[in-house]
Amino acid sequence: MIDLEQYRTWTQACVKCGACRATCPVFKAENTEGGVARGKITLAQAMMDGQVFAEDRLVHDLSQCLLCGSCANLCPNQVPTHEIVAAARREVARKKGLSGFGKGVAALLTHKKTMDWMSKSGELASRLLCRRIPDTSGLKLRFPVPGIPRERTLPKPSFTPFLNREIRQTVSFSTGPKVLFFTGCGINYLYPEIGAYLVRILNFMGIHVTLTDEQVCCGLPALSAGAGNAVDTLAQRNLKALKPHAFDYVITACASCHGALAGLYPTLGADYHVFADKTRDIMEFLMDMDLVGRLAALPRSKAPVKVTYHDPCHLRNHGLTQAPRQLLHALPQIDYVEMTDAATCCGLGGTFSVHHYETSQKIGDQKAHHIAQSGAQIVATACPGCMIQLRDSLNRQGVPARVTHLLEFVCQALPDR
Ligand code: SF4
Ligand code: SF4
Repeated sequence: MIDLEQYRTWTQACVKCGACRATCPVFKAENTEGGVARGKITLAQAMMDGQVFAEDRLVHDLSQCLLCGSCANLCPNQVPTHEIVAAARREVARKKGLSGFGKGVAALLTHKKTMDWMSKSGELASRLLCRRIPDTSGLKLRFPVPGIPRERTLPKPSFTPFLNREIRQTVSFSTGPKVLFFTGCGINYLYPEIGAYLVRILNFMGIHVTLTDEQVCCGLPALSAGAGNAVDTLAQRNLKALKPHAFDYVITACASCHGALAGLYPTLGADYHVFADKTRDIMEFLMDMDLVGRLAALPRSKAPVKVTYHDPCHLRNHGLTQAPRQLLHALPQIDYVEMTDAATCCGLGGTFSVHHYETSQKIGDQKAHHIAQSGAQIVATACPGCMIQLRDSLNRQGVPARVTHLLEFVCQALPDR
């Protein structure tokens, strides 16, 4: 992965103007200079110049970043603070080793069989340890469990991960492009129904979906934890798993996976450039295939449901903000309403919400407030990570809106065949 030193020119491009303060969710929540981009860039420069080593205070300040990229979008010089912070975390790990938490994240993500087992045993354990919350399909702990806040709404692990299921498809070969579905961990272990929606929609369009259970985590949680070696390992395994298949597109339905494949992987070497060219978020793909035209031709519902949309950072950073809205406008059963600050991070930020749950809550509470203000009955998004955070925030704030992946609506609207 790219060394911190290779970002030196970028750090020098930061003129410390502070414009990024207006958009940084951490700064808005905590109002401390250590939380904002220019403070972190100064720390990264001090690390490169040997003025600081990997002191606890520095590690703490570097951990106070969601890696959301909002600052880079607003910065007059487009300084990629999120990339610089991630590189600085890797530098800390190189100097003093990964934290216990970072080691745990790296070990887990690189052992798929353990992940499969944990999903299965987590589902069984959740029956004993958790109670189900009506209407939101989330879980709350009945008893204290170390490391997990009691008040947090948790997603239910899947007893059988999506990639271990028998997926029956209605078309055996594609009449259109050849697509490979990169599921990611969120869909595989927590929301397998999203994978089923995707397969059904593409089958409806005459496209057979290639699935391979050789694929592993995209690596973004490891990136957030500063575990650069784990990111490299996972990227290599995914390259090995996907490349032998003949495909025109790798389709993702998780914004973070899209960010990894289309944005991060091409920085890892020439072999990975294939992902930059061929990775498509499902909504972008559906737009390209003119599903919008077909949906817009369906008769409109007389009692549409009011829906708003939350932009996941990893799609927003790739400019993918219009495709989901165009789909939502075209869906016959939906009355679309825009919420305030739809493109602001939900506050999850990979491992950020584990280290800084209080700050993560403040950011999530603001999002819940905007959803409530919009009057929407349902908030749709396109990232399992955002779904976890939105459910937690809405439950805490007592907002009755449901959370779902946009594909659920697309699937609902398809005529029976
Ligand atoms: S990161 Fe960009 S917006 Fe923020 S202080 Fe530096 S130059 Fe200004
Ligand atoms: S990446 Fe996001 S959280 Fe981190 S400094 Fe930039 S705006 Fe703030």
